[in-house]
Amino acid sequence: MWEDLEVALEKVNTDNLKQKPAADNLGFGVHFTDHMFLMKWDKENGWHDGKICPYHDFTLDPASMVFHYGQAIFEGLKAYRGKDNQLFLFRPKDNFERMNISALRLCMPRFSAEKMVKILKALIYLEKDWVPKTEGGTLYIRPTMIGVEPTLGVKPSSVYYFYIILCPVGAYYAEGCNPTKIYVSDEYVRAVKGGVGNVKTAGNYAASLYMSEIAKKAGCTQVLWLDACEHKYIEEVGTSNIFFKIDDQLITPPLEGSILEGLTRDSVLKLASSWGVDVVERPISIDEILEANESGRLQEAFGTGTAAVISPVGELFYKDNSYVINNSQTGELSNRLFNELQAVQKGHQEDPFNWVVRVA
Ligand SMILES: *Cc1c(COP(=O)(O)O)cnc(C)c1O
Repeated sequence: MWEDLEVALEKVNTDNLKQKPAADNLGFGVHFTDHMFLMKWDKENGWHDGKICPYHDFTLDPASMVFHYGQAIFEGLKAYRGKDNQLFLFRPKDNFERMNISALRLCMPRFSAEKMVKILKALIYLEKDWVPKTEGGTLYIRPTMIGVEPTLGVKPSSVYYFYIILCPVGAYYAEGCNPTKIYVSDEYVRAVKGGVGNVKTAGNYAASLYMSEIAKKAGCTQVLWLDACEHKYIEEVGTSNIFFKIDDQLITPPLEGSILEGLTRDSVLKLASSWGVDVVERPISIDEILEANESGRLQEAFGTGTAAVISPVGELFYKDNSYVINNSQTGELSNRLFNELQAVQKGHQEDPFNWVVRVA
């Protein structure tokens, strides 16, 4: 198996395996598994030295380009333990294809998404005991690519690392999915059309931290971003896409270059359509949302992303005023989508869109 993937395998000695953390105290991205995948790229060899190896530190020159000019892209997906104790991935090839789109935008080298799914399956299989057995627990997967040529000239790096690290994470919601309070930012923006908001590159997240801290101080958990030109149209919320149900219609902002093309967003659009829900992608302004809420026509609002699947919005905080949505309750459609997607991800439910890949 390892040969035809051209990936070497260096296992940790059984004596040196890590102690697994307590299942009820996993946190997010705190504990990492015993092994990782690593490969390198340079102009002469392309991608080479691919190996599944012990999780380890990197030694990097302080001039490495990623530290200065931010050539860093990543992905986020999960391995789920489900039906009959089998392990599943959800749309993994789509994640790697999206990473290739990010690579193109950041002048970084691309790779075979198909081959990477095979490598990921092999890595997950090796680390299968790390996939939590608790309800809602998953193994979070973080593929990352960085430019590491040691030079200060501004240009694309000529050397790259691609790696995948894994961390067991607990249920996103300790007590099921609870509505959150969201800060609508009317001052700072996340991304502009023509910029890099539609790709998963590190700088987007660094740029969002300042506003996130303001939101936290106001008692909110996330920021709802408005468009960069008019500060009027809804873009997305934190690291999730957003949906609103108004007059029985499910509305989400269109992908026009500043919004991340979420796979959960796409799955929700397809699933809801297949149920006969009227679904539209169109620009929607914060004023329209507040008006619909005022007149009782806004039935539900929720974010979508790999981490939480569906994250209901219970309250918006905008220009010093609070607006409660749906009595701060989880809506009927939010609930149905949450349960259905989770059931598909764990192999408990029929998978009409062929989203699920079985690891073992
Ligand atoms: C990752 C991400 C999302 C959600 O994407 P999924 O593929 O659904 O996990 C949405 N917005 C931003 C900014 C993101 O980084």
